[in-house]
Parts: sequence; C-alpha cells; structure tokens
Amino acid sequence: MTGSSVSVMVPPGGAIGILGGGQLGRMTALAAARLGYRCVILTPEENSPASLVSDRTIVAAYDDPTALAELAAAVDVVTLEFENIPVSALRLLESRIPLRPGPRALEVGQDRVNEKTFFGDFAETAPWRPVRDLASLQAAIAAIGVPAILKTARLGYDGKGQVKITSAEQAAEAWATLRCPDTAADQPAPAILEGFVAFQREISVIVARREDGQTAVWPVAENVHSNHILDTTTVPAAIPAGVAAEAQRIAITAAERLGLIGLLAVEMFVADHHVIVNEMAPRPHNSGHWTMDAAVTDQFEQLVRAVCGLPLGSPDLRCPVVMKNLLGDDVAEWQALLQDPTAKLHLYGKAEAREGRKMGHVNYLKP
Ligand code: AMP
Repeated sequence: MTGSSVSVMVPPGGAIGILGGGQLGRMTALAAARLGYRCVILTPEENSPASLVSDRTIVAAYDDPTALAELAAAVDVVTLEFENIPVSALRLLESRIPLRPGPRALEVGQDRVNEKTFFGDFAETAPWRPVRDLASLQAAIAAIGVPAILKTARLGYDGKGQVKITSAEQAAEAWATLRCPDTAADQPAPAILEGFVAFQREISVIVARREDGQTAVWPVAENVHSNHILDTTTVPAAIPAGVAAEAQRIAITAAERLGLIGLLAVEMFVADHHVIVNEMAPRPHNSGHWTMDAAVTDQFEQLVRAVCGLPLGSPDLRCPVVMKNLLGDDVAEWQALLQDPTAKLHLYGKAEAREGRKMGHVNYLKP
C-alpha cells in the first residue's frame, strides 16, 4: 500500500514537508503556523522565501535521494508548491510518507499532452495536436489552421516555451527556436500546437479536495495578464451564472478524476459563453491570492486543512476584491500602496527585485 492511499489525519502540532521554497510555499507555511504546524522546506535555493518563515530547510536538488529520505523522516505529510518535481522523486517520497497531491496529478499537470487528453474527456479545450518534429508541426498547422500557439509539452510557464504562429511559412523557424525554459537543452523539445482562442475573458477556478472526497470550490476569478504574467485578479468574475457554474463543474470533476488531495487550480478561457480549459496546476495558485483577505478560508489554509485531513473551511466570498501582483520594481511603491486603507499588502521577502519577478501582491477590498 502506498502512503497516499492510507487514511491520514495529521493533528496540529505535526510537521508538514513542502517541496519548493517560493512565495507559495511561504504563504502555505504561514497558514500552517497559524494552525499550529511546523514546516520543513526542501528547495535547491538558499534563503528561499519559504525558508525564512519555516522551522527548517533542506537545501538540495529535488531528486536527491538522501535529502528526500531526510525530509520523509522529519515530517508527517508532504505537499508541494511547485509542480515540476521529477516524478521519480515523488514515487520515492510516496513509498515512505503520505504525499498530497500524489504523482497522478503531477503526471497530468507536468505535460500538456497528458493535460489536454485528460480534460478532453469532460470539458472543451482548444483544438490541439502533439508535435514531435517539423513534419508533425506542419501537419498540425494544416489541421488546426492559424493563428495557433506552439507550446513545449513540459516546463512552460508565464508564456515561456511558447511561439505564436500566424502563417504556415513560420513553421520551420518556430520549430527551430522553441526551447524548454530553464533548461540547458539546445534541441527543440516535444510540444503541442494549440489553436488560438479568441477569448473575451480569462478565468480560473481553484478547488480543494480531501481524501474522503469532500470538496470546496471558491468563486470564479477573472484574470488579466500582462506580458504573459498575471497582472490582476478580480472576484467575482463578470460572467453569467451558467458560465461560472460550468467552470466550477470542470474544476471539481478534474479534482475527482485525479483523486486529488490538496488544491487544484484550473485556468480557462471564456469565448462566446463557452468555457475552454487552458491548463491546470495541482497546488496553490497566483489567481487565488485574493482569498487571503476576501474569502472566509484562504487557499493556503485550505491546503493545510486538506493535506492534514482537517475539515475544509468555507470558500465563500466575504466582499468583492481585486488582487494586483507586484512585479520587480513595483514593490518599491509599498509606502504609496499603504496609503489606501483598504489595501492589504503581502510581500514575499525577496531581496532582489529583478524585472518581472513576483515580489508581492496587494488585495484591494471593495466592501
Ligand atoms: P499558458 O502558459 O498556457 O498559461 O499561456 C499564457 C497566456 O498565453 C494565457 O494566459 C493566455 O493569455 C495566452 N494563451 C495561451 N494559450 C492560448 C490560446 N490557445 N489562445 C489564446 N491565448 C492563449
């Protein structure tokens, strides 16, 4: 029997392992501390945002077996804030300790081919084809048409690992330039070609699920991106009730089919009242940061409740809200931001404000 299939309740006073040391891990650790848990972080980064607020950090590569064994020995349950953990590392952890979410959600979320195939069974996606070489890209363009987006199957984020194609003649150049972000690889990687969706809005839904199948879904969030990075999230989304219900149905169905324990965020487009799935992440999500000030239970606390087997809290909206990300030098404006007495400022403790780096966010409450 594997760890994650055993019924597990970790009472307050226990310890939670978190794979990943970024801001999502930091906010999870802060929520865990409020409920009386200690956190141990595994990250390759020294002085990571999560380490600064946690009990202990193991600085090592995610696939370092000694570090994984050390983490498993130090905590009662492991979760993650970063989905690109090697599946072999997850399997090793899972053989020793409850791992939530388990490898299945990661296997689907790490690869766009798996993800599109998975969602295609119960939801609408953009038309897509797998691409392995120039010939399959040309065939995909012929089948789907242009405009279309070529995306690496793995490791893409914030628009990285993507090339927009507006004419069939661009195929060779697009294939030659496509690279997996943050890797040393100098070869084109497996990819998908996806039809361009002429959407009116981008939305996301986050759902929490416990081991016993109980779910709690937050209201639909409406997202605006700038340079492929999330800029603002507004809740409630300005969409008809039927569209919102469909978006929530998709997220809940996905969590159930994955047997997920923890959080699942699903990003979607709304085009002519259709909900079209873009991608998912089995972890806390930037488009859920509004929950910290405007929901009865925020996503980080809910993750802790779900992975520790505590009752889930209410996801209800307390008041309308706009979340604004602070990227790079935006964070220097903290004094001006605090002049608004309804602004709730969250900073991630990152020393260096590189361009485009997520440094914090502000929730503007609209009572
Ligand atoms: P992704 O990395 O897949 O989340 O894509 C980043 C952003 O690119 C999305 O939030 C959209 O704004 C845009 N985008 C991605 N895929 C499509 C698509 N098929 N059609 C139109 N816009 C897209």
